[in-house]
Amino acid sequence: MDTATCPQCHQPVNSQAVTCPHCRTQLKAYGHPGIPLHRASKEEYLCDSCTYHADDTCNFPQRPHAKVCTLYENIEESKLYSEKQRYANSFGATLRNWIKRNQALMLLLALLLICLLIALSTT
Ligand code: SF4
Ligand SMILES: [Zn+2]
Repeated sequence: MDTATCPQCHQPVNSQAVTCPHCRTQLKAYGHPGIPLHRASKEEYLCDSCTYHADDTCNFPQRPHAKVCTLYENIEESKLYSEKQRYANSFGATLRNWIKRNQALMLLLALLLICLLIALSTT
C-alpha cells in the first residue's frame, strides 16, 4: 500500500484515499482516487508556487488566490523533473551515439560470441 501524509492532520493515509480517515479532510477531487486535490498551507496561495501561474497558462477563475486546486503543479518539482528528463535524454543520446560509432566492433563481438557458442555446442 502506498502511503501519503494528510496535509491537514499529518497522519499517514492511503494514497488512494478520497478523504482522510482521521480528520475527514477531502484529499481527492470529484470523489475519484486518481484526481489529487492540492491544498495550500495556511498563509499562502497555491498559485504562488504553481508552474501554470509562472508561465501564465492557467485560466482558472480562482487564480491567483487558489487555496485548493486539482491542477496545481509545484514549480520547483517540475523544474527538477525536467532537469532529470534532460539528463536521461542526454544519457540515452550518448549511448545511442556510442553504439552507432562502434557498430563494427559490436558486430565483430557478436560474431565472436556466436562462433564461441557453436564451438561449445559441438564439443
Ligand atoms: S493551476 Fe491552480 S494553483 Fe496553478 S495557477 Fe491555476 S489556479 Fe493557481
Ligand atoms: Zn487528516
